[in-house]
Amino acid sequence: MTDSITIALSKGRILEETLPLLADAGIELVDDIKKTRKLVFPTTDPNVRVLIIRATDVPTYVEYGGADLGVTGKDVLMEHGGGGLYEPLDLNISRCRLMTAGPQGETTPPGRIRVATKFVDIARRYYAAQGRQADIIKLYGAMELAPILGLADEIVDIVDTGNTMRANGLEERELIENISSRLVVNRASMKMKHKPVNAIIEQLAAAVDKRR
Ligand code: ATP
Ligand code: MG
Repeated sequence: MTDSITIALSKGRILEETLPLLADAGIELVDDIKKTRKLVFPTTDPNVRVLIIRATDVPTYVEYGGADLGVTGKDVLMEHGGGGLYEPLDLNISRCRLMTAGPQGETTPPGRIRVATKFVDIARRYYAAQGRQADIIKLYGAMELAPILGLADEIVDIVDTGNTMRANGLEERELIENISSRLVVNRASMKMKHKPVNAIIEQLAAAVDKRR
């Protein structure tokens, strides 16, 4: 069993871009994922299986050894808090930006502000590092609504084209981090399953290089 490998993938947009990379690395799903409600999938490599779970759960599965490797966004890893995981590879997919944003044509009000976000730890650290006082309000989605409805002065959220923000009367203010998806590895797996884990890292690195 020491050579069998489990990889946790983020469902949704990251998955769409991860599957071609994995295929280039010689790992292809056997089932049609759109036609089943399964969460665990065999691959063309008999020693490799794949889990398809929420992006925010990937670091937890990998940290506690539910999976040996994982793919998730840098934003998710920053919010999880880096400890306990190796992050050997930038997959250069699902690129976007983590930004502060507020109502168009306004500037950040002076003094203590309210910030709505699902990235509460990132936001807390960011405003503290700026020496600005901020009350962080946790939301699970539709952050763009918060400033318009008077719930918050600013939001911290992912931006790609900026269309969603513009459509909701917001504009980008400050860049917190450039985001892409990363490969993460369980610390014990890196040691105990070094050979197969390293082979996957190298094959994925080659697949990423090919696309540059
Ligand atoms: P849901 O939107 O269903 O609540 P989620 O927010 O966890 O789920 P996604 O919206 O698919 O899932 O986002 C997952 C990850 O994809 C993010 O953590 C981020 O790394 C990346 N991502 C999010 N939005 C974009 C975007 N517009 N462009 C590129 N990558 C993005
Ligand atoms: Mg989302």
